[in-house]
Amino acid sequence: MAAIHSKGTKPEMIVRRWLWSHGYRYRLNVKSVPGKPDIVMRRFRTAIFVNGCFWHGHLVALPQMYDGRCKMEDVIENSACCKIPTTNREFWVKKICRNMERDQENYRILRQNGWHTIVVWECQLKPKLLEHTMQQVERQLNQNFLSIYQRKSTIYTEPEEEYLMAAEED
Ligand SMILES: [Zn+2]
Repeated sequence: MAAIHSKGTKPEMIVRRWLWSHGYRYRLNVKSVPGKPDIVMRRFRTAIFVNGCFWHGHLVALPQMYDGRCKMEDVIENSACCKIPTTNREFWVKKICRNMERDQENYRILRQNGWHTIVVWECQLKPKLLEHTMQQVERQLNQNFLSIYQRKSTIYTEPEEEYLMAAEED
């Protein structure tokens, strides 16, 4: 099952390194932000999740999730980057569904609290795609920043100074 990574954080590192080298500063593991995002950018009021394609069911269609639940009797299909093992399939389906539900719930809570979320998928970080992917992230960050200013009179308060954090090594 080559698609399975340990909770090791290589994809996260790629994103952090790109952001850092482009002058963005962020915090990691901010407990006060719901869903424990991988990267928190207060200035943009944005939580970034770097999701493994297998664990988070990238491109897996779950039409039954409109009500926020996924039912075991429903079939879920493999996607190009989330191939569910045939052995113990039911176990994996259940696990991946649970992760997807949890993700949606976290994004919802973040939205309710005025946070933007950006999800970066592992498969979008391949060397050939990385620059394009991160430019999209950057565009999204700019949009988020603008929308914060537009709401300024209601909820925006000046962000506190962000901690400076050295980019980690591998
Ligand atoms: Zn993917």
